Amino acid sequence: MKPVIALVGRPNVGKSTLFNRLTRSRDALVADLPGLTRDRHYGEGRIGERPFLVIDTGGFEPVAKDGILHEMAKQTKQAVAEADVVIFLVDGRQGMTPHDKTITDFLRRSGRPVLLVVNKAEGMKYTSVTADFYELGLGDPYVISAAHGDGVMDLVDEALDSALARQEEPEEEVEPEGRDIRIAIVGRPNVGKSTLVNTLLGEERVIAFDMPGTTRDSIEIPFERDGKRYSLIDTAGIRRRGKVFEAIEKFSVVKTLQSISEANVVILLLDAQQDISEQDAHIAGFILESGRALVVGVNKWDGLQSDRRDEIKIDLERKLSFLSFAKFHFISAQKGTGIPQLMKSVDAAYAAAMVKLPTPKLTRALLDAVEHQQPRRKGTFRPKLRYAHQGGQNPPIIVIHGNGLEGIDANYKRYLEKHFRETFSLVGTPLRIELRSGK
Ligand code: GDP
Ligand code: GDP
Repeated sequence: MKPVIALVGRPNVGKSTLFNRLTRSRDALVADLPGLTRDRHYGEGRIGERPFLVIDTGGFEPVAKDGILHEMAKQTKQAVAEADVVIFLVDGRQGMTPHDKTITDFLRRSGRPVLLVVNKAEGMKYTSVTADFYELGLGDPYVISAAHGDGVMDLVDEALDSALARQEEPEEEVEPEGRDIRIAIVGRPNVGKSTLVNTLLGEERVIAFDMPGTTRDSIEIPFERDGKRYSLIDTAGIRRRGKVFEAIEKFSVVKTLQSISEANVVILLLDAQQDISEQDAHIAGFILESGRALVVGVNKWDGLQSDRRDEIKIDLERKLSFLSFAKFHFISAQKGTGIPQLMKSVDAAYAAAMVKLPTPKLTRALLDAVEHQQPRRKGTFRPKLRYAHQGGQNPPIIVIHGNGLEGIDANYKRYLEKHFRETFSLVGTPLRIELRSGK
């Protein structure tokens, strides 16, 4: 199977120019296969002995603000879905634009390996032309000139390596395109869960609202925000208060565990007007064990004196330091403050939880880590870490292969985790490291 490379990016970043170079054609529309829209151009290329297919998504035009993702989804989704690897082009002369970020979010969700490529870089210094783009969290950018050909060979080699690794990976259950992000809101009674549910559902269009049945334990309420789809996992513990359900339910560990396990991302709500309790810490512990992505909302931040705010921040650091992988937001579910930021972190945590890490990249990160700091000797033998592959998502599991890995201590494992986290910008999700020794 020929690997498929999709070229994605804003208009005018140089996609057609690169496409033409790769397919050695002056004519952007190389293969007008039946059933293709005008917006996607397919061509064949070859580097040395390695043939590949390339898709140019040149037709992508941003439309109204809310419609960007929608429009992208239409024109680019198909190309990305068909691709083994995405070359994401940005313009080194123009620098970063907000739109580049939107595209990044979209690509992250696609689960495809993405190579960030700064084009139009002829005659420019690597550091000056790339500085802007680190913010996208896609790692070290490649730098090319599509017009002059600089860096293009190396880029394609790298893209084909990623594509191959992907093809070799066992067929995992791919998250169906456009699937809702399943969110569970958990916390002890009275922290404001129902209020937050109402705020989330109330201020945006609710696609459908399934009236909770009395017999069912858990339902999902789909809703949409900023063009993205979510589902709230609504266990019986969190009902819309008021008309129908008056019952003040006792906190149920079972229901909390259920909703955590059904979620992709958990929002742990805390009450800033109370001290962090043992119950809060317990719930946090459940979430950590579940491996689900996590965002913490410190609620009822409205109307707090500033010394109380300082107090609770200290309390949080003292009692919930084991949640340092997650983002904390100080919010008011009642007033709606802090909610957009909270939801941004939900998106980011989801993206991190669902990240796909190609074997070559993981292995490179592993070897970097080892080069930086070797594991300690166990007796006369030093554990040898050889390569890494991804063993799962939500949470991401990184499986490390090598010899004598029993000798790796918890400290070194933590060091590796931190290194992977930083390398792949994984915020908001637990990360599991598994060690597998060969003979
Ligand atoms: P697309 O809309 O992303 O397909 O972009 P095009 O390939 O049509 O290129 C947009 C403009 O950028 C054209 O004027 C190209 O000549 C120019 N361009 C493309 N690649 C380069 C490059 O490497 N360096 C410079 N300086 N200009 C380039
Ligand atoms: P639940 O038991 O976790 O679902 O909590 P509720 O949503 O029923 O809220 C418990 C109480 O806290 C109610 O009296 C809410 O009005 C109040 N509350 C919820 N959110 C806020 C907030 O952001 N600020 C303040 N001051 N009160 C809140």
